[in-house]
Amino acid sequence: MEKQIRRIGILTSGGDAPGMNAVVRSVVRTASAYGITCVGIRRGYSGLIKGDVVDLGARSVDGIIARGGTMLYTARCLEMLTEEGLHQAADNAHYMGLDGLVVCGGDGSFRGAQALSRLGVPAIGIPGTIDNDIVCSDYTIGFDTACNTAIDAIDHLRDTMQSHERCSVVEVMGRRAGHLALEVGVGCGATAILLPEREIDFDSMIVDKMKANRIRGRKHHIIIVAEGVGHAQDVADRIHAATGIDTRVTVLGHIQRGGSPTVRDRVMATRMGYHAVRILMEGASNRVVCSHNNEIMDYDIEEGLAMTKDLSQELYEVSQTVAI
Ligand code: ATP
Repeated sequence: MEKQIRRIGILTSGGDAPGMNAVVRSVVRTASAYGITCVGIRRGYSGLIKGDVVDLGARSVDGIIARGGTMLYTARCLEMLTEEGLHQAADNAHYMGLDGLVVCGGDGSFRGAQALSRLGVPAIGIPGTIDNDIVCSDYTIGFDTACNTAIDAIDHLRDTMQSHERCSVVEVMGRRAGHLALEVGVGCGATAILLPEREIDFDSMIVDKMKANRIRGRKHHIIIVAEGVGHAQDVADRIHAATGIDTRVTVLGHIQRGGSPTVRDRVMATRMGYHAVRILMEGASNRVVCSHNNEIMDYDIEEGLAMTKDLSQELYEVSQTVAI
């Protein structure tokens, strides 16, 4: 028995990720297809607390599937962490007549969704972060685009590193998780990948490998450092001290968060946005949408955030084996 819902809200929260616009589009279009009106809430939970909203119809989201960033803006809203702010957000949601809320962001944003659900605002989370660090989902929206952006930048670096026979140490994002670094490291053929989840013996796994590779004729090296490991400059200094090889550092930084989303991100965003609206219609609340083996499903937020997810051991071993 489907619940009669008439009006829902959509917001993007936390760090932005390519594909968030595609989520907004999918939620608005799915709602519209079922006769549900949709409001866009600007700047994450701040917009809910301040009542900063815009009506969104099917035509309001034309063309945004191809655009990076988020048309609704995003923010970190400290007021949501206070009882007063949280109640203000819930009161406004009720005042606006919202029968449901879709929140695209990371685990912090899902905590907000959980708190609102407890106050009678049925809220559904969609994982949108380039870090792929949402434990209950194989995949988070923005990850593929960020990997491709990083690979593109590293391909440019490779040209100059090859010409000068240098070592390039590249720091990639990912916060405390190494998923982005591992994927990028394999994709660019890195000599070594430093990840927060894996111990590394610096001498045997980097220095000796670089020296051996030099003897085998490889004159340039790419070392990927996940931001959760520490500063790339420290890694570069150690490499230079141990090998004498001219070593340069590049911190890719926020460039990884921009750009037109890849097909994978557009499709995943569209599927997840559709799923979120469908489960709201079925009366769901306090759920997080996720992907498992390319199937879209959902979990209770508490249950979902309590799960664990490790790096792909298979991919890690592959990366170690082929980097000779
Ligand atoms: P990212 O992965 O990009 O950091 P995130 O969603 O984890 O995204 P946070 O800054 O942790 O980013 O959370 C986003 C917002 O969610 C916060 O600014 C706050 O408004 C809200 N939020 C976070 N934790 C809670 C909580 N425990 N209760 C209510 N709201 C919360």
